[in-house]
Amino acid sequence: MNNFPKEMKAAVIREHGGPEVIRMETVPVPQLQPNEALIKVKYTALNHLDIFAREGLKGPGVPKITLPHVSGVDIVGEVIAYGSAKGGGREDLPELNTRVLVNSAFGCGTCRYCRNAEPSMCKNYKIVGEHLWGGLAEYVKVPAQNIIEIPEHVSSVKAAAVPAVYTTAWRGAVTVGRIKPSDTVLVVGASGGLGSAQMQIAVLMGAEVIAIVGNEEKRQKALAMGASEAFYSHENWLEKVMDWTNGYGVQLALDCVGVKTIRNSLNALDQGGKLILSGATSGDFPDISIREIYQHHRKILGAPMGNWEDFLQVTSLVFRGKLDPVIHKVYPLNELGDAQEALAKRSHFGKIVIEIDPS
Ligand SMILES: [Zn+2]
Repeated sequence: MNNFPKEMKAAVIREHGGPEVIRMETVPVPQLQPNEALIKVKYTALNHLDIFAREGLKGPGVPKITLPHVSGVDIVGEVIAYGSAKGGGREDLPELNTRVLVNSAFGCGTCRYCRNAEPSMCKNYKIVGEHLWGGLAEYVKVPAQNIIEIPEHVSSVKAAAVPAVYTTAWRGAVTVGRIKPSDTVLVVGASGGLGSAQMQIAVLMGAEVIAIVGNEEKRQKALAMGASEAFYSHENWLEKVMDWTNGYGVQLALDCVGVKTIRNSLNALDQGGKLILSGATSGDFPDISIREIYQHHRKILGAPMGNWEDFLQVTSLVFRGKLDPVIHKVYPLNELGDAQEALAKRSHFGKIVIEIDPS
């Protein structure tokens, strides 16, 4: 560790608020504990989690952010050091100076959920960039168990787009939603990072996709990505979805928007259809009818993040070129505030990625 710089540049939040509270500061490089890896960060993709952390979002199920904080969940970089114990004896630990992708989510490792390979169910579940300092910095430390090597042919920017949204999308559509090729699938908020991943996975699985998007440009992009139809979020899309499905509705609806859309998503379901909830970016206390759920045999299922297997499934599909993450734009770290604003205003299509040090 002696050859490494002692200090690093990081996007630090010391108080909650708008983009103006993000400060580029020089802070100490994290000290490694046993079983940790030190990553020299190349790119970190943004998520709504970054905005929630900055704003200090409060509510049921929202972890409290400890200030000062550095967010950044989706990290690509070079592993440059291991703490003692080197990943607890993991045999396929990447060699030093290898380009790696971080699965930022981990559990305690010993409770019954962790033993059942479901760390996101762990009561001590943690995410690097949410509970711990994340990748919007030159260096970040992560559990050594949670890094995988990126094949040479995959760009660092594309890889950074994968962990949070693709793992969540796979968990929701495949592991929990049990998507079938015969399904018609509704993707609400299809132009977002998660929505575009959900749409790609549903198309890959052979399902027919109806996307809900904000404007004509996004509608054309959704159709180009394989959606069979796309409607605008500002029109009466419930009626259009019902017409399009001859009055039956869809077998699976994927909604991460929340309060603004959940009632329409629920009522767009066929008898026995499944509504998968993986986010609530517009708010989390909806006005819905219980009868609209049980009288139609409908199911509402939660799918936050995913397990190690979900992560490996999507990374393998991206590495094999079967899934191709959509990148909206790459911003330099000193334009992080603008990048977060673009994400908050939903002016993007796909992932927004921050360049830290690509060399
Ligand atoms: Zn646990």
